[in-house]
Amino acid sequence: MRYEGQIYRPPGEWRSYLLQCTVGCTHNKCTFCGMYKTKKFHIRPMKEIIEDIAMARAYYVPESVDKVFLCDGDAIVMRQEQLLQILEALYAAFPNLRQVTTYAGTKSTMTKTPEQLLELRQHGLTRAYLGVESGWDELLVKVRKGVTSDQMLEAAARLKNAGIDLWVTVILGLAGPGEASKKHIQETIKVLNKMQANHVSCLSYMPEPNSPMYQDVKEGRFQLISARECLEETRQLVEGLDYGPFHFTSNHASNYLPLKGTLPDDREKFLTMIDSALGGKSRIRSEYSRAL
Ligand code: SF4
Repeated sequence: MRYEGQIYRPPGEWRSYLLQCTVGCTHNKCTFCGMYKTKKFHIRPMKEIIEDIAMARAYYVPESVDKVFLCDGDAIVMRQEQLLQILEALYAAFPNLRQVTTYAGTKSTMTKTPEQLLELRQHGLTRAYLGVESGWDELLVKVRKGVTSDQMLEAAARLKNAGIDLWVTVILGLAGPGEASKKHIQETIKVLNKMQANHVSCLSYMPEPNSPMYQDVKEGRFQLISARECLEETRQLVEGLDYGPFHFTSNHASNYLPLKGTLPDDREKFLTMIDSALGGKSRIRSEYSRAL
């Protein structure tokens, strides 16, 4: 129950017990991301992590904790025996625990063999969040993501093959407007259709003050897309993702139009909603109420 610095979690983990296992992000170079720029990556001492679990057990009604999110950045990078010890301690502390989740960076995931990932799943690591952001390799280089789309596909396949529920995120507007926007979405659709994640979430790019891209926006080197272009990117994604069924959301606070449902079943409904917003017949989230 002790935390170092600002803590981030995926929106769906709002009622999870947040256990800080690592501080910061192993990569920490993405130009659009300001989450961990003030933190130097390190793994917390195991003694402290295990103490925190005991503190949480004393603080909460233990039966009430059914979800735990391991933060900060990709806790999956920890040594196998450390992760197993954490999972064992969590399931022993909380009798109704049914889900333990983590961010899983591509390179960190690839430090684990398929057998190790399977072992983590068998010990109760149920879901991994992988930030794809874009499937366009040129853009991934530009934003210093540090991995290629092929590497992300390999990491995703390993997680899925281990039975770990894969949740990926994409950032609308990350390439800016015009042809770059089209290429970003076209390439992202290709990668996501190969990846076949169980969940795809879209965020919309908003400049974070701690990040290099914030300066680019301020100094005119990067142009934000308009609300209309953002809706058009969403429309292309909804039309182009051709596997399923999978869970699709664009209901993050940064998005102009909240969508939540299952594709392909909800495709026509989503397209109607997007077209209504594009035609000015339904309201979209105002700029001042958008947030990261
Ligand atoms: S986007 Fe993910 S990998 Fe990139 S710096 Fe932020 S936390 Fe690290």
